[in-house]
Amino acid sequence: MRARLIAILLALLPCAAAAHTPGFDADFTGETMRLGLYQVGDARDELVTLHEVHRDGQWAGPRSPLLDPFGYGRYAVTLLDAATRRPLYSRGFDTMFGEYRTTGPALEGKKRVFERAVRVPWPRRPVIVEIARRDAKNVLQTIFTTTIDPSDYHVIREAPDPRDWVYEAMRNGEPGDKVDLVFVAEGYTAEDRDKFKADVDRVTGWLFSYEPYRHLKTSFNVSGVFRPSAERAMDEPRQNVYRKTTLGASFNTFDTDRYMLVENNHRLREIAARVPYDTLVILVNSTRYGGGGIYGDYCITTVDHARSKEVFIHEFGHSFAGLADEYYSSDVAYNDFYPKGVEPLEPNITALLDPANLKWKDLVTPGVPIPTPYGKEEREALQAERRKAQQAGDEAAVKALASRLAELDERLASLRDVVGAFEGAGYASKGLYRPAWYCLMISSPRDEFCPVCRRAIERMVRHYANTSP
Ligand SMILES: [Zn+2]
Repeated sequence: MRARLIAILLALLPCAAAAHTPGFDADFTGETMRLGLYQVGDARDELVTLHEVHRDGQWAGPRSPLLDPFGYGRYAVTLLDAATRRPLYSRGFDTMFGEYRTTGPALEGKKRVFERAVRVPWPRRPVIVEIARRDAKNVLQTIFTTTIDPSDYHVIREAPDPRDWVYEAMRNGEPGDKVDLVFVAEGYTAEDRDKFKADVDRVTGWLFSYEPYRHLKTSFNVSGVFRPSAERAMDEPRQNVYRKTTLGASFNTFDTDRYMLVENNHRLREIAARVPYDTLVILVNSTRYGGGGIYGDYCITTVDHARSKEVFIHEFGHSFAGLADEYYSSDVAYNDFYPKGVEPLEPNITALLDPANLKWKDLVTPGVPIPTPYGKEEREALQAERRKAQQAGDEAAVKALASRLAELDERLASLRDVVGAFEGAGYASKGLYRPAWYCLMISSPRDEFCPVCRRAIERMVRHYANTSP
Protein backbone atom coordinates (compact mmCIF):
# COMPACT_ATOMS: atom_id res chain seq x y z
CA MET A 1 0.00 0.00 0.00
CA ARG A 2 2.75 2.37 1.00
CA ALA A 3 4.68 1.71 -2.21
CA ARG A 4 1.56 2.43 -4.19
CA LEU A 5 0.99 5.71 -2.33
CA ILE A 6 4.54 6.84 -2.99
CA ALA A 7 4.18 5.91 -6.64
CA ILE A 8 1.04 8.01 -6.92
CA LEU A 9 2.69 10.95 -5.17
CA LEU A 10 5.69 10.75 -7.48
CA ALA A 11 3.41 10.71 -10.46
CA LEU A 12 1.75 13.89 -9.26
CA LEU A 13 5.03 15.77 -8.97
CA PRO A 14 5.62 18.09 -11.90
CA CYS A 15 7.99 16.74 -14.58
CA ALA A 16 8.12 13.30 -12.89
CA ALA A 17 7.69 11.10 -15.94
CA ALA A 18 6.51 13.38 -18.67
CA ALA A 19 9.75 15.15 -19.45
CA HIS A 20 11.76 12.09 -20.40
CA THR A 21 11.41 8.38 -21.02
CA PRO A 22 12.97 6.66 -18.07
CA GLY A 23 15.25 3.79 -18.97
CA PHE A 24 15.08 0.22 -17.77
CA ASP A 25 16.72 0.87 -14.41
CA ALA A 26 14.19 3.53 -13.47
CA ASP A 27 11.27 1.13 -13.83
CA PHE A 28 12.77 -2.31 -13.20
CA THR A 29 15.08 -3.89 -10.61
CA GLY A 30 16.88 -6.34 -12.92
CA GLU A 31 15.07 -9.40 -11.52
CA THR A 32 12.30 -11.41 -13.21
CA MET A 33 8.60 -11.70 -12.39
CA ARG A 34 6.94 -14.98 -13.33
CA LEU A 35 3.17 -14.97 -13.72
CA GLY A 36 1.65 -18.44 -13.47
CA LEU A 37 -1.53 -18.31 -15.54
CA TYR A 38 -4.33 -20.71 -16.32
CA GLN A 39 -6.27 -20.50 -19.56
CA VAL A 40 -9.67 -22.20 -19.56
CA GLY A 41 -12.13 -22.48 -22.40
CA ASP A 42 -12.93 -23.64 -25.91
CA ALA A 43 -12.80 -22.14 -29.40
CA ARG A 44 -15.30 -19.43 -28.46
CA ASP A 45 -14.78 -18.62 -24.79
CA GLU A 46 -11.60 -18.07 -22.87
CA LEU A 47 -10.96 -17.26 -19.24
CA VAL A 48 -7.46 -16.27 -18.13
CA THR A 49 -6.71 -16.36 -14.42
CA LEU A 50 -3.59 -15.69 -12.39
CA HIS A 51 -2.55 -18.54 -10.12
CA GLU A 52 0.73 -17.40 -8.55
CA VAL A 53 3.35 -14.70 -8.89
CA HIS A 54 6.96 -15.74 -8.41
CA ARG A 55 10.19 -13.84 -8.20
CA ASP A 56 12.79 -15.49 -10.43
CA GLY A 57 16.43 -14.48 -10.64
CA GLN A 58 18.21 -12.14 -13.00
CA TRP A 59 16.31 -10.66 -15.98
CA ALA A 60 18.13 -12.11 -18.98
CA GLY A 61 16.07 -10.31 -21.59
CA PRO A 62 16.86 -7.13 -23.43
CA ARG A 63 16.67 -3.84 -21.56
CA SER A 64 15.81 -1.97 -24.71
CA PRO A 65 13.49 -1.81 -26.57
CA LEU A 66 11.03 -2.75 -23.84
CA LEU A 67 7.96 -2.53 -26.05
CA ASP A 68 7.67 -5.49 -28.42
CA PRO A 69 9.20 -4.62 -31.81
CA PHE A 70 7.99 -7.84 -33.52
CA GLY A 71 4.21 -8.22 -33.11
CA TYR A 72 4.39 -12.03 -33.35
CA GLY A 73 2.17 -14.39 -31.34
CA ARG A 74 -1.57 -14.61 -30.76
CA TYR A 75 -1.25 -13.20 -27.26
CA ALA A 76 0.59 -10.30 -25.66
CA VAL A 77 1.44 -9.25 -22.13
CA THR A 78 1.72 -5.56 -21.28
CA LEU A 79 2.85 -3.89 -18.06
CA LEU A 80 1.53 -0.41 -17.35
CA ASP A 81 2.66 1.81 -14.52
CA ALA A 82 -0.31 1.56 -12.11
CA ALA A 83 -0.12 5.22 -11.21
CA THR A 84 0.28 6.78 -14.63
CA ARG A 85 -0.82 3.97 -17.00
CA ARG A 86 2.40 4.52 -18.92
CA PRO A 87 3.32 1.33 -20.88
CA LEU A 88 6.54 -0.09 -19.42
CA TYR A 89 6.92 -3.42 -21.17
CA SER A 90 5.14 -5.58 -23.74
CA ARG A 91 5.78 -8.88 -25.43
CA GLY A 92 3.87 -11.17 -27.80
CA PHE A 93 3.67 -14.91 -27.17
CA ASP A 94 1.76 -18.06 -28.00
CA THR A 95 0.33 -20.75 -25.80
CA MET A 96 -0.78 -24.36 -25.93
CA PHE A 97 -4.33 -23.18 -25.27
CA GLY A 98 -4.07 -20.93 -28.33
CA GLU A 99 -3.47 -24.05 -30.42
CA TYR A 100 -6.16 -26.02 -28.65
CA ARG A 101 -8.68 -23.36 -29.72
CA THR A 102 -8.17 -24.36 -33.37
CA THR A 103 -8.83 -28.09 -32.81
CA GLY A 104 -12.04 -30.08 -33.44
CA PRO A 105 -12.99 -30.67 -29.78
CA ALA A 106 -12.56 -26.95 -28.98
CA LEU A 107 -14.72 -26.00 -31.96
CA GLU A 108 -17.36 -28.40 -30.62
CA GLY A 109 -17.33 -26.57 -27.30
CA LYS A 110 -15.28 -28.93 -25.16
CA LYS A 111 -13.62 -26.78 -22.47
CA ARG A 112 -10.10 -27.54 -21.31
CA VAL A 113 -7.58 -25.89 -19.01
CA PHE A 114 -3.91 -25.24 -19.76
CA GLU A 115 -1.03 -23.79 -17.77
CA ARG A 116 1.18 -21.01 -19.04
CA ALA A 117 3.79 -18.99 -17.19
CA VAL A 118 4.76 -15.61 -18.63
CA ARG A 119 7.87 -13.74 -17.53
CA VAL A 120 8.35 -9.99 -17.36
CA PRO A 121 11.02 -7.76 -15.83
CA TRP A 122 10.47 -7.09 -12.12
CA PRO A 123 8.84 -3.66 -11.69
CA ARG A 124 9.93 -1.22 -9.00
CA ARG A 125 6.36 0.00 -8.47
CA PRO A 126 2.83 -1.47 -8.73
CA VAL A 127 1.90 -2.36 -12.29
CA ILE A 128 -1.23 -3.17 -14.22
CA VAL A 129 -0.76 -6.46 -16.07
CA GLU A 130 -2.82 -6.87 -19.23
CA ILE A 131 -3.09 -10.08 -21.24
CA ALA A 132 -4.49 -9.53 -24.72
CA ARG A 133 -5.49 -12.00 -27.42
CA ARG A 134 -5.70 -11.35 -31.13
CA ASP A 135 -9.19 -11.40 -32.64
CA ALA A 136 -10.09 -12.81 -36.07
CA LYS A 137 -8.53 -9.73 -37.69
CA ASN A 138 -5.36 -10.09 -35.57
CA VAL A 139 -6.18 -7.02 -33.47
CA LEU A 140 -5.17 -7.38 -29.81
CA GLN A 141 -8.13 -7.35 -27.39
CA THR A 142 -7.52 -7.33 -23.64
CA ILE A 143 -8.97 -10.43 -21.95
CA PHE A 144 -7.37 -10.20 -18.51
CA THR A 145 -6.27 -7.32 -16.28
CA THR A 146 -4.89 -7.26 -12.78
CA THR A 147 -2.76 -5.00 -10.61
CA ILE A 148 0.36 -6.41 -8.99
CA ASP A 149 2.24 -4.71 -6.20
CA PRO A 150 5.76 -6.15 -6.26
CA SER A 151 6.08 -5.53 -2.49
CA ASP A 152 3.02 -7.72 -1.77
CA TYR A 153 4.05 -10.53 0.59
CA HIS A 154 1.91 -12.99 -1.36
CA VAL A 155 4.46 -12.85 -4.14
CA ILE A 156 6.50 -16.06 -3.82
CA ARG A 157 10.18 -15.42 -3.30
CA GLU A 158 11.42 -19.00 -3.15
CA ALA A 159 14.96 -19.74 -4.25
CA PRO A 160 15.33 -22.30 -7.08
CA ASP A 161 15.68 -25.92 -6.03
CA PRO A 162 19.43 -26.43 -5.40
CA ARG A 163 19.07 -30.14 -6.18
CA ASP A 164 18.56 -29.29 -9.88
CA TRP A 165 21.92 -29.68 -11.54
CA VAL A 166 23.17 -26.91 -13.82
CA TYR A 167 25.54 -27.40 -16.72
CA GLU A 168 27.05 -24.24 -18.16
CA ALA A 169 27.81 -25.36 -21.72
CA MET A 170 28.85 -22.08 -23.31
CA ARG A 171 29.24 -18.59 -21.88
CA ASN A 172 30.02 -15.58 -24.02
CA GLY A 173 28.97 -12.71 -21.75
CA GLU A 174 26.41 -11.14 -19.44
CA PRO A 175 22.87 -12.57 -19.78
CA GLY A 176 21.46 -9.12 -20.58
CA ASP A 177 23.72 -8.94 -23.66
CA LYS A 178 23.24 -12.50 -24.97
CA VAL A 179 20.58 -14.92 -26.09
CA ASP A 180 20.39 -17.16 -23.03
CA LEU A 181 19.36 -20.59 -24.26
CA VAL A 182 18.56 -23.20 -21.63
CA PHE A 183 18.02 -26.90 -22.22
CA VAL A 184 15.76 -28.68 -19.72
CA ALA A 185 15.97 -32.45 -19.27
CA GLU A 186 12.90 -34.65 -19.71
CA GLY A 187 12.79 -38.42 -19.35
CA TYR A 188 16.39 -38.73 -18.13
CA THR A 189 16.81 -40.80 -14.96
CA ALA A 190 19.36 -39.93 -12.25
CA GLU A 191 21.90 -42.22 -13.96
CA ASP A 192 21.47 -40.33 -17.25
CA ARG A 193 23.03 -37.04 -16.12
CA ASP A 194 26.20 -37.48 -18.18
CA LYS A 195 24.08 -38.40 -21.18
CA PHE A 196 22.08 -35.20 -20.74
CA LYS A 197 25.32 -33.20 -20.63
CA ALA A 198 26.54 -34.89 -23.82
CA ASP A 199 23.13 -34.30 -25.47
CA VAL A 200 23.24 -30.59 -24.59
CA ASP A 201 26.63 -30.37 -26.30
CA ARG A 202 25.43 -32.37 -29.31
CA VAL A 203 22.26 -30.31 -29.84
CA THR A 204 24.21 -27.07 -29.33
CA GLY A 205 26.48 -28.31 -32.11
CA TRP A 206 23.44 -28.86 -34.34
CA LEU A 207 22.20 -25.32 -33.74
CA PHE A 208 25.49 -23.69 -34.65
CA SER A 209 25.92 -25.81 -37.76
CA TYR A 210 23.12 -23.76 -39.41
CA GLU A 211 23.13 -20.18 -40.63
CA PRO A 212 22.43 -17.64 -39.32
CA TYR A 213 23.14 -19.21 -35.89
CA ARG A 214 26.65 -20.19 -37.00
CA HIS A 215 27.91 -16.64 -37.56
CA LEU A 216 26.03 -15.38 -34.48
CA LYS A 217 27.36 -18.03 -32.11
CA THR A 218 29.12 -15.57 -29.79
CA SER A 219 25.75 -13.87 -29.18
CA PHE A 220 24.61 -16.93 -27.22
CA ASN A 221 25.02 -18.34 -23.72
CA VAL A 222 23.97 -21.99 -23.41
CA SER A 223 23.19 -23.97 -20.27
CA GLY A 224 21.32 -27.07 -19.19
CA VAL A 225 19.15 -27.76 -16.15
CA PHE A 226 18.77 -31.33 -15.04
CA ARG A 227 16.06 -32.69 -12.75
CA PRO A 228 15.91 -36.48 -12.97
CA SER A 229 12.76 -38.33 -14.03
CA ALA A 230 11.63 -41.59 -12.46
CA GLU A 231 11.49 -43.19 -15.91
CA ARG A 232 13.01 -42.61 -19.37
CA ALA A 233 11.44 -41.07 -22.51
CA MET A 234 7.80 -39.86 -22.58
CA ASP A 235 4.16 -40.93 -22.87
CA GLU A 236 2.90 -42.35 -26.17
CA PRO A 237 -0.85 -42.70 -25.66
CA ARG A 238 -1.49 -44.28 -29.08
CA GLN A 239 1.05 -46.99 -28.22
CA ASN A 240 -0.40 -47.40 -24.71
CA VAL A 241 2.97 -46.31 -23.31
CA TYR A 242 3.00 -44.15 -20.15
CA ARG A 243 6.15 -43.00 -18.38
CA LYS A 244 6.59 -41.17 -15.08
CA THR A 245 8.63 -38.15 -16.11
CA THR A 246 9.38 -34.75 -14.62
CA LEU A 247 7.49 -32.63 -17.16
CA GLY A 248 4.92 -35.19 -18.34
CA ALA A 249 5.86 -34.84 -22.03
CA SER A 250 3.47 -36.72 -24.30
CA PHE A 251 3.17 -37.64 -27.94
CA ASN A 252 -0.21 -37.40 -29.70
CA THR A 253 -0.82 -33.85 -28.51
CA PHE A 254 -4.28 -32.84 -29.79
CA ASP A 255 -4.47 -36.43 -31.07
CA THR A 256 -1.79 -35.74 -33.70
CA ASP A 257 0.67 -38.48 -34.57
CA ARG A 258 4.16 -37.01 -34.08
CA TYR A 259 3.21 -33.92 -32.10
CA MET A 260 4.71 -33.71 -28.62
CA LEU A 261 4.20 -30.96 -26.03
CA VAL A 262 4.28 -30.72 -22.24
CA GLU A 263 1.29 -29.55 -20.23
CA ASN A 264 3.19 -28.96 -16.96
CA ASN A 265 4.20 -25.45 -17.99
CA HIS A 266 4.38 -24.11 -14.44
CA ARG A 267 6.78 -26.84 -13.40
CA LEU A 268 8.85 -26.34 -16.54
CA ARG A 269 9.24 -22.66 -15.74
CA GLU A 270 10.01 -23.37 -12.09
CA ILE A 271 12.86 -25.69 -13.12
CA ALA A 272 14.21 -23.36 -15.84
CA ALA A 273 14.31 -20.47 -13.32
CA ARG A 274 17.45 -22.09 -11.90
CA VAL A 275 19.37 -20.02 -14.49
CA PRO A 276 18.79 -16.71 -16.31
CA TYR A 277 17.19 -17.51 -19.66
CA ASP A 278 15.50 -16.07 -22.75
CA THR A 279 14.51 -19.22 -24.61
CA LEU A 280 13.78 -22.81 -23.59
CA VAL A 281 14.44 -26.15 -25.25
CA ILE A 282 13.22 -29.41 -23.70
CA LEU A 283 15.37 -32.41 -24.59
CA VAL A 284 13.52 -35.71 -24.37
CA ASN A 285 15.61 -38.80 -23.85
CA SER A 286 14.06 -40.96 -26.57
CA THR A 287 14.79 -42.53 -29.94
CA ARG A 288 11.30 -41.77 -31.30
CA TYR A 289 10.59 -39.12 -33.96
CA GLY A 290 8.67 -36.04 -32.86
CA GLY A 291 8.55 -32.66 -31.20
CA GLY A 292 6.83 -29.30 -31.11
CA GLY A 293 7.44 -25.59 -30.66
CA ILE A 294 5.36 -22.67 -29.38
CA TYR A 295 6.46 -19.08 -29.93
CA GLY A 296 7.88 -17.48 -26.82
CA ASP A 297 7.29 -20.64 -24.80
CA TYR A 298 9.53 -23.58 -25.64
CA CYS A 299 10.69 -26.03 -28.25
CA ILE A 300 10.70 -29.76 -27.50
CA THR A 301 12.45 -32.57 -29.35
CA THR A 302 13.58 -36.12 -28.84
CA VAL A 303 17.36 -36.45 -29.11
CA ASP A 304 18.15 -39.90 -30.44
CA HIS A 305 16.16 -40.30 -33.66
CA ALA A 306 18.06 -40.09 -36.96
CA ARG A 307 16.08 -36.93 -37.78
CA SER A 308 16.15 -35.28 -34.34
CA LYS A 309 18.49 -32.60 -35.70
CA GLU A 310 15.96 -31.48 -38.35
CA VAL A 311 13.08 -31.61 -35.87
CA PHE A 312 15.00 -29.47 -33.40
CA ILE A 313 16.12 -26.81 -35.86
CA HIS A 314 12.61 -26.54 -37.34
CA GLU A 315 10.76 -26.39 -34.00
CA PHE A 316 13.27 -23.90 -32.57
CA GLY A 317 12.43 -21.70 -35.57
CA HIS A 318 8.84 -21.58 -34.26
CA SER A 319 9.58 -21.10 -30.57
CA PHE A 320 12.51 -18.68 -30.82
CA ALA A 321 11.99 -16.68 -34.00
CA GLY A 322 8.21 -16.85 -34.46
CA LEU A 323 8.51 -18.54 -37.85
CA ALA A 324 5.47 -20.16 -39.48
CA ASP A 325 5.35 -23.58 -41.09
CA GLU A 326 5.94 -23.11 -44.80
CA TYR A 327 4.63 -26.56 -45.71
CA TYR A 328 1.14 -27.28 -46.89
CA SER A 329 -1.09 -30.12 -47.94
CA SER A 330 -2.29 -30.19 -51.53
CA ASP A 331 -5.59 -31.55 -50.16
CA VAL A 332 -6.25 -28.49 -48.00
CA ALA A 333 -7.09 -25.41 -50.06
CA TYR A 334 -7.67 -23.04 -47.14
CA ASN A 335 -7.53 -23.63 -43.39
CA ASP A 336 -8.85 -22.09 -40.18
CA PHE A 337 -5.40 -21.65 -38.70
CA TYR A 338 -4.87 -18.59 -40.91
CA PRO A 339 -8.27 -16.96 -41.57
CA LYS A 340 -8.77 -15.91 -45.18
CA GLY A 341 -8.14 -12.26 -45.96
CA VAL A 342 -5.99 -11.64 -42.86
CA GLU A 343 -2.24 -11.19 -43.15
CA PRO A 344 -0.41 -13.75 -40.95
CA LEU A 345 1.75 -12.32 -38.15
CA GLU A 346 4.76 -14.48 -38.92
CA PRO A 347 7.62 -13.00 -40.96
CA ASN A 348 7.96 -15.88 -43.46
CA ILE A 349 4.46 -16.40 -44.89
CA THR A 350 2.05 -13.94 -46.46
CA ALA A 351 -1.53 -13.81 -47.71
CA LEU A 352 -0.21 -11.46 -50.42
CA LEU A 353 -3.13 -9.07 -49.94
CA ASP A 354 -0.96 -6.22 -51.20
CA PRO A 355 1.60 -7.71 -53.63
CA ALA A 356 3.34 -4.34 -54.11
CA ASN A 357 4.13 -4.31 -50.39
CA LEU A 358 5.25 -7.89 -49.86
CA LYS A 359 6.77 -8.00 -46.38
CA TRP A 360 10.08 -9.36 -47.65
CA LYS A 361 10.07 -7.28 -50.84
CA ASP A 362 13.60 -5.97 -50.22
CA LEU A 363 14.86 -9.57 -50.45
CA VAL A 364 13.01 -10.50 -53.65
CA THR A 365 15.31 -11.51 -56.51
CA PRO A 366 15.15 -8.78 -59.19
CA GLY A 367 12.91 -9.70 -62.12
CA VAL A 368 11.06 -12.50 -60.33
CA PRO A 369 7.28 -12.18 -60.73
CA ILE A 370 5.06 -11.95 -57.63
CA PRO A 371 3.39 -14.39 -57.14
CA THR A 372 6.10 -16.67 -58.54
CA PRO A 373 4.99 -19.43 -60.94
CA TYR A 374 6.82 -22.65 -60.18
CA GLY A 375 4.88 -25.42 -61.90
CA LYS A 376 2.81 -26.04 -58.77
CA GLU A 377 -0.29 -27.52 -60.43
CA GLU A 378 1.77 -29.72 -62.74
CA ARG A 379 3.85 -30.98 -59.84
CA GLU A 380 0.86 -31.68 -57.61
CA ALA A 381 -0.91 -33.55 -60.42
CA LEU A 382 2.18 -35.72 -60.99
CA GLN A 383 2.54 -36.33 -57.25
CA ALA A 384 -1.13 -37.36 -56.98
CA GLU A 385 -0.71 -39.76 -59.92
CA ARG A 386 2.40 -41.20 -58.31
CA ARG A 387 0.55 -41.77 -55.02
CA LYS A 388 -2.18 -43.63 -56.91
CA ALA A 389 0.36 -45.75 -58.76
CA GLN A 390 2.12 -46.53 -55.47
CA GLN A 391 -1.16 -47.64 -53.91
CA ALA A 392 -1.90 -49.81 -56.94
CA GLY A 393 1.58 -51.31 -56.76
CA ASP A 394 2.29 -50.27 -60.36
CA GLU A 395 6.11 -50.10 -60.20
CA ALA A 396 6.57 -49.09 -63.85
CA ALA A 397 4.15 -46.16 -63.51
CA VAL A 398 5.81 -45.03 -60.26
CA LYS A 399 9.18 -45.00 -62.02
CA ALA A 400 7.87 -43.11 -65.04
CA LEU A 401 6.21 -40.48 -62.85
CA ALA A 402 9.33 -40.06 -60.75
CA SER A 403 11.34 -39.28 -63.86
CA ARG A 404 8.70 -36.80 -65.06
CA LEU A 405 8.93 -35.06 -61.67
CA ALA A 406 12.71 -34.98 -61.99
CA GLU A 407 12.38 -33.45 -65.48
CA LEU A 408 10.07 -30.78 -64.09
CA ASP A 409 12.58 -30.02 -61.32
CA GLU A 410 15.32 -29.70 -63.93
CA ARG A 411 13.22 -27.38 -66.11
CA LEU A 412 12.58 -25.08 -63.16
CA ALA A 413 16.07 -25.34 -61.66
CA SER A 414 16.66 -21.61 -62.07
CA LEU A 415 13.95 -20.95 -59.46
CA ARG A 416 15.77 -22.85 -56.76
CA ASP A 417 17.86 -19.91 -55.67
CA VAL A 418 15.41 -17.06 -55.96
CA VAL A 419 13.28 -15.26 -53.40
CA GLY A 420 9.74 -14.56 -54.57
CA ALA A 421 6.27 -15.54 -53.37
CA PHE A 422 5.55 -19.25 -53.87
CA GLU A 423 1.96 -20.28 -53.31
CA GLY A 424 1.40 -23.03 -50.74
CA ALA A 425 2.36 -22.35 -47.11
CA GLY A 426 0.91 -22.36 -43.59
CA TYR A 427 -0.83 -25.76 -44.22
CA ALA A 428 -2.88 -24.26 -47.10
CA SER A 429 -2.44 -24.96 -50.79
CA LYS A 430 -4.10 -21.69 -51.80
CA GLY A 431 -3.97 -18.11 -50.61
CA LEU A 432 -0.76 -18.31 -48.56
CA TYR A 433 2.73 -17.81 -49.95
CA ARG A 434 6.27 -18.61 -48.81
CA PRO A 435 9.50 -16.87 -49.80
CA ALA A 436 11.40 -19.65 -51.53
CA TRP A 437 11.30 -23.10 -52.97
CA TYR A 438 13.33 -24.52 -50.13
CA CYS A 439 13.61 -23.86 -46.40
CA LEU A 440 13.94 -25.73 -43.12
CA MET A 441 10.40 -24.53 -42.34
CA ILE A 442 9.13 -26.68 -45.25
CA SER A 443 10.17 -30.23 -45.91
CA SER A 444 12.80 -29.75 -48.61
CA PRO A 445 15.94 -31.53 -49.70
CA ARG A 446 18.05 -28.46 -49.06
CA ASP A 447 19.19 -28.36 -45.44
CA GLU A 448 19.09 -24.59 -44.85
CA PHE A 449 16.77 -21.71 -44.00
CA CYS A 450 15.51 -19.48 -46.81
CA PRO A 451 16.89 -15.89 -46.81
CA VAL A 452 13.67 -14.51 -45.24
CA CYS A 453 13.81 -16.94 -42.31
CA ARG A 454 17.54 -16.35 -41.90
CA ARG A 455 16.94 -12.64 -41.56
CA ALA A 456 14.03 -13.11 -39.13
CA ILE A 457 16.20 -15.32 -36.91
CA GLU A 458 19.07 -12.85 -37.04
CA ARG A 459 16.75 -10.02 -35.97
CA MET A 460 15.60 -12.02 -32.97
CA VAL A 461 19.17 -12.86 -31.96
CA ARG A 462 20.19 -9.22 -32.23
CA HIS A 463 17.17 -8.18 -30.18
CA TYR A 464 18.23 -10.35 -27.24
CA ALA A 465 21.92 -9.65 -27.69
CA ASN A 466 21.55 -5.87 -28.04
CA THR A 467 23.64 -5.79 -31.20
CA SER A 468 23.09 -4.21 -34.59
CA PRO A 469 24.14 -5.80 -37.87
ZN1 LIG B 1 11.79 -19.91 -44.75
